[in-house]
Order: sequence, then structure tokens, then C-alpha cells
Amino acid sequence: MPKAGTRVAHAYDRLRAYPPEVAGRIATAIGNALQARGEEPVLLELGAGTGRIALPLIARGYRYIALDRDPAMLEVFRQKAAGVMRKVHLLLADAREIPLPGESVHGVIAVHLWHLLPDWQRALAEAFRVLKPGGVLLEGWDRMASEVDSRLQERWQALVAAEGVRVERGRHQKRLAEVAEALRRLGLRPRTRLVVAWREERSLREALEALEERLYSFTQEVPEEVHRRAMPHLLAFAEAEFGSLDRTFPVERSFFLRISRLG
Ligand code: SAM
Repeated sequence: MPKAGTRVAHAYDRLRAYPPEVAGRIATAIGNALQARGEEPVLLELGAGTGRIALPLIARGYRYIALDRDPAMLEVFRQKAAGVMRKVHLLLADAREIPLPGESVHGVIAVHLWHLLPDWQRALAEAFRVLKPGGVLLEGWDRMASEVDSRLQERWQALVAAEGVRVERGRHQKRLAEVAEALRRLGLRPRTRLVVAWREERSLREALEALEERLYSFTQEVPEEVHRRAMPHLLAFAEAEFGSLDRTFPVERSFFLRISRLG
């Protein structure tokens, strides 16, 4: 995503959060994938954001390097991790130029990152440079499905299209397939598993906020003034279609992990 201000970083943190038991299942899946051969494992997360993947692992005592290029995201991370920072290193840096020595970490984690980088190959090469032999690349992603969200997103898309702006959807899934292909070309055997699926309730207000703050990558390239003009129309549509902004609706969510182990 483009650099987030503090408000956007907080919105990301709140609206993308995992329920505690889900966060725990994800941490267990990541922990189980590590093979540190008797050493204390060191994890590096590229694009760590506000720490929703990192914090449960940090709480379990892992040494963790949280890299992100956005100071606002790392600041929210730092506030949340206060008190458990002993083994944590926050690294304000670009994933395409990781300021760490080669073969220095046991696991590299990347969740919802590749599709944000047109030159993702550079970040992938950097991940392999810093991984120790036998280390693992752990790519994660969420799926979210809800009828109400889909209708709001379609309406937003139609509103910006009426101003002549076309948006590209599905970039994330496409990029995951491209990265998988690159991993196979490198002789790796990426294995994907569904770690956890759950259902949660979200309010119409929250759904609108996620669009308003442009948390979805497909909304991020639309010019600010076009987006600003679309939002009041979207709000009016939402209220007319669904009623009170406090009304909640179900969202089906799931988290996937793709594991590639270096020989
Ligand atoms: N991985 C976190 C999660 O799943 O909650 C955050 C995902 S968020 C969609 C993407 C994060 O990647 C943001 O915090 C953004 O600042 C960061 N990011 C984007 N491009 C980056 C780059 N080139 N180097 C490092 N971080 C980057």
C-alpha cells in the first residue's frame, strides 16, 4: 500500500485484525514450519505492518525482525509490542534491499506483500539471500468473502468508472501464482495449506471505513479526488440498501500459508 498515515495504520490494524484464537493458530503453523537445527530460530517478516502476524510469535518468545518501509505502520507495531520488545528488532527498510547479512535468518515471512511490489523478484531474491540453508519462506494470505462487502466494492468501482477510472481486481491472486511459478523454477516445492477458516461479524460502518481508508490494494491507484467524490455516493447507497451503519453482517474469512523450504 502507499505510505500510510497514522490514522490509516490504526484503521488497518483494527479492520484486518485476527481474533486471538485465529492469531494463535497462524503462529502455531508458522512455528511448526521452522527447522532451526538446534539454534534459536530468527524470523524476519517483510512488510510486517502493524504486527498482526508478528505479535503472537513474539509472545511465544521467537526472535523477530519486523521490516517495513512505512514508519506509521511500524510505530503502531512498536506501541502494540511495548513490553515484549526484548527479542524484537524493528527495521525501517525496503524489502527489496534488506539490510541484513546473507544466511542470517531461519524463516522469512511475507503476508500480503508481493502484489504491492511491481518488482517483487528483487524482494524474493533478497529473501533467499538472507535465509540460512534449510530455512523456510512462509507466504501467507487472507481470503474474505461477504455479500455486503462485494456489493459495496462493486458500487465503489462503478462510481469511479463513471469518472473514467478503471481499477484492476485480482492482482493479489495473480501475483501469488507468478511467485509460485518463480519458486518452482528455482527448484523449490511450495506447499499451500489452509491454516484456519472462521466467520465473523462486521458492521456496515467498518466495511465502509475499509474502503474509505483504501485498505484494499485495488483502491489505491485511484486519484484521491475521484475517490473522495465517490465516497458520499457510496455512503448514500449503503444506507439506502442496508439501513443503519451499525447493522452487522457475516464475513467468511480464512488464512492460507505457503511453505517453501530451502534444501
Ligand atoms: N504483513 C502485514 C499483515 O499481513 O498484516 C502487513 C500487510 S500490508 C497489506 C503491506 C505492508 O507492506 C505495509 O505495512 C507496507 O508498508 C509494507 N510494504 C509495502 N511495500 C514495501 C516494501 N517495498 N518494503 C517493505 N515494506 C513494504
